[in-house]
Amino acid sequence: MIAHLINTDVGGRGILRVYLDYRRENFNFLHNSATMFLNNLERVLIVTGFPIPPVDIPETDGPPGALAIALAVEKLGGRAEVLTYPEVREALSDFWDSFVERPRLSSYSLIVAIETPGMSADGRYYSMSGLELKRGAFDGVVVEAKKLGIPTIGIGDGGNEAGMGKVRELVIRYIPHGDKIASVVETDGLITSAVSNWGAYGLVAEASMIESENLLRDFDEAEIVRALAEAGIIDGVTKRAEVSVDGINMDVHSKVLSLLKTLISNTKR
Ligand code: MG
Ligand code: MG
Repeated sequence: MIAHLINTDVGGRGILRVYLDYRRENFNFLHNSATMFLNNLERVLIVTGFPIPPVDIPETDGPPGALAIALAVEKLGGRAEVLTYPEVREALSDFWDSFVERPRLSSYSLIVAIETPGMSADGRYYSMSGLELKRGAFDGVVVEAKKLGIPTIGIGDGGNEAGMGKVRELVIRYIPHGDKIASVVETDGLITSAVSNWGAYGLVAEASMIESENLLRDFDEAEIVRALAEAGIIDGVTKRAEVSVDGINMDVHSKVLSLLKTLISNTKR
């Protein structure tokens, strides 16, 4: 049910079809990622940030989800560090203080990449509209972690993110500009979602159900998006620094979060 909810394609970008086909072969994808998450909490590196061309300013999708995951790690007794762009780090500083710039990967137990560019087949990085990204990406972290045998989880909503290489053929089939923008970077676990923040909340909600503890209870998304917008972080669709994510207003986001919280409390033992 959580997987359905977080893949409700409000933005109409074709992710629902990707999800339905992906799920057919990977029925327990969300549960499997949540289990991988819960089994590797010792030191988690969370990577986020997607610069939107042509301005190359990071967007409001990703950082709130990264924060929800980081806070959940801490609540569960683990340690989390966030790797992101300097202006996102600055914007989140009232909510989180454990950031890293050059992580030594071998010291991590798990890598989670949420809404961050993944290299395409031609070695470049693209936005959903097919514009090339000029700013450096962090997906090398995922590639390196895989070589080191560190578990990786990816969260994406368009196909151009690190991790979505796992469903590359589906992205090419169903997402506009898919053949150009589809990432080749795969993660062990992959969570598709209609908005990447929702994918992160879905992961935390699934983990909450397994642990019988509502890890999203105190999470205030609107407050975080407001701080991001005030710091100049932009909505990836409207390309304006405003209190919205992927062109969807906060009313919708808060309803999704509220449904997730209800699902958790109703299944709590
Ligand atoms: Mg995206
Ligand atoms: Mg998005």
